[in-house]
Amino acid sequence: MDIRFYNTLTNEIAPFEPLTPGQVKMYSCGPTVYDFAHVGNFRSFLFADLLRRFLEAAGFDVWHVMNITDVGHMTADEEADGSGEDKMQVAARRLKEDKKSGKVEDGAVADPDDPYQVADYFMQAFLEDGRQLGLKVASEFPKRVPKATEYIDEIQQMISTLIARKHAYVGSDGVVYYSVESFPNYGQLSGNTLDALRVGAGGRIDAADQGAKRHPADFMLWKADPKHIMKWDSPWGAGYPGWHIECSTMSMRVLETDVLDIHTGGEDLIFPHHECEIAQSCGATGKDLFARFWMHARFLLVEGEKMSKRKGNFFTVRDILAGKATGGPVHPAVLRMELIKSHYRAHTNFTAEGLSESANTVRRLTELGQRLHAECGGKPAQVDRDHPVVRAFLEALANDLKVSEAMTVVHAWMSSPGEDAAEAYGVLLALDQVLGVWELTGADEASEDPESEVVQKLCELIDEARQTKDFSAADAHRQRLIELGYEVRSSAEGTFAQKKLA
Ligand SMILES: [Zn+2]
Repeated sequence: MDIRFYNTLTNEIAPFEPLTPGQVKMYSCGPTVYDFAHVGNFRSFLFADLLRRFLEAAGFDVWHVMNITDVGHMTADEEADGSGEDKMQVAARRLKEDKKSGKVEDGAVADPDDPYQVADYFMQAFLEDGRQLGLKVASEFPKRVPKATEYIDEIQQMISTLIARKHAYVGSDGVVYYSVESFPNYGQLSGNTLDALRVGAGGRIDAADQGAKRHPADFMLWKADPKHIMKWDSPWGAGYPGWHIECSTMSMRVLETDVLDIHTGGEDLIFPHHECEIAQSCGATGKDLFARFWMHARFLLVEGEKMSKRKGNFFTVRDILAGKATGGPVHPAVLRMELIKSHYRAHTNFTAEGLSESANTVRRLTELGQRLHAECGGKPAQVDRDHPVVRAFLEALANDLKVSEAMTVVHAWMSSPGEDAAEAYGVLLALDQVLGVWELTGADEASEDPESEVVQKLCELIDEARQTKDFSAADAHRQRLIELGYEVRSSAEGTFAQKKLA
């Protein structure tokens, strides 16, 4: 299969082949665990998940690592000298307020003054959200989900290497800085070369930022700070690492390589975060390349606008699932579909209308899965990636992850899945290896569950009652389903009940 991806590093679509045949090593910048993840974060995480699942379906053994940033990510992350406040500090303070106001349940974090407990609370929340939305890497914790605080020794080793190789120095303020002038390729990813940064009022740095540094764009690797919320002994004083060095260290350590095949993240991470990762990693290894492909997801809009707390259109994954954005609960599979269905290099516009389209797709796929599963007795035929439907689907994705083309293949196939239920069920499972929808909606229904017939019947009764406008009967049936632990959604297309995922 001819795989081609857009590479931010070269600004072009290029053929993709991993360094080691058959094996792909990819790293995705994960969450800073100082709050619940919002839908925009998950747009980027699920883009990485789609990419990983596609590569697996195409036959690769994929090592996918996504880190947890639990220290060193400053509120002023555009400032490279560790100014601002650690986001964990902010989280600890906010958590105390939330506890007082009852927003955080009692006992969730025994001691909000303990940053490890605060980080763990939000990390568990992220892993739970991730598993609900079918983010595969979230189920691979802790093996493929490293935490920065558990890599402090390795981070310090890398800083020592950078100092020994003259890429880093201790500034006059005691902070260890990376020397951007020591790395001629600085700016290769973002276009923010030192010349470009220096030019004009639009430049992102000026001499006033220089302070204790040799060059205003030099950025912090380690900051000695005895008052910091989390600190470790080091040759440069007790303190904490910078956010950028954490990712360079964890990616190479956990993936066991100096050169990654793919590095992903949201577009907002291109500069300075990813630019700095390249400078650090190449500086330490002496190699020309750190990641061969850089792939970035564009940010998410909500009803056409940039998400912001001020505008009131800022939603966590939990808000959406609980129905805070749309007025009714949303099944995780529906949110997953909504977040993966637009091309990763286009802005996803999150809308109530889009969500209801996604719900229809999920419902169609789930009902088809239920029917095929019943017809073939849960025994799919062996379907591999040479099956014409699966091949067409994967070929669309091989073309820089054209999801909409791949979904066109899926919808066409759903309209006429063929006579052979076992074969069709095999196709559905093959497609779902990438889509991850049936695995979230179908598992309960498809198992030998006597409840499923009752649920089916109740959904039909709701639809009949709705047609005759007998709303109290519809409500009674709906209530019955809710008591059985189901989430119920009725729309023009009919009623759809899904077991609530724990
Ligand atoms: Zn990162």
